Amino acid sequence: MSEYHEILQGFAVEELHTTEEHRQALRACAELLLTTSEDFATATTLAMLLLANQPEAFTPSEDFLEQHPDNHPREYSSPAGYMAFFLLYLAEKARSAKDIAGEAATCTHYSTSCTGDLNLCNKCADRAEIVIPISQMRYEDIPPYHLGCRCKPILIQARE
Ligand SMILES: [Zn+2]
Repeated sequence: MSEYHEILQGFAVEELHTTEEHRQALRACAELLLTTSEDFATATTLAMLLLANQPEAFTPSEDFLEQHPDNHPREYSSPAGYMAFFLLYLAEKARSAKDIAGEAATCTHYSTSCTGDLNLCNKCADRAEIVIPISQMRYEDIPPYHLGCRCKPILIQARE
């Protein structure tokens, strides 16, 4: 069992309307990405398997759609492409959570780094200003914040 297993089990994954069984499948696929190869080709293969029998099994929630334009399926070439990005998003959230928790002994807070380039959205730029206590880390405060988001956590050393 990987270190990511427990982290992913703690993720509610309420961005999609689906059954708990399907959420479990999403967590398992994200774990597979993290423990094998976290790339778009692998994510697409897993997404196609997820959708093979139940193409309508995953519907994004209204909240998730409103958060960012990239969270909308219409931005993607196919349902499998959309789900591949979702799996990478979920895997990256678990990676960030592990990175943050791994530094909890020496760091008390974290922030997020943005790419700072022209593709950066205002929401992510604003988030970079916010410092979050590690002890109060919530799912929604773990980067990435939306599909295709490239934000990463920055750990902040405890002050004397
Ligand atoms: Zn971002």
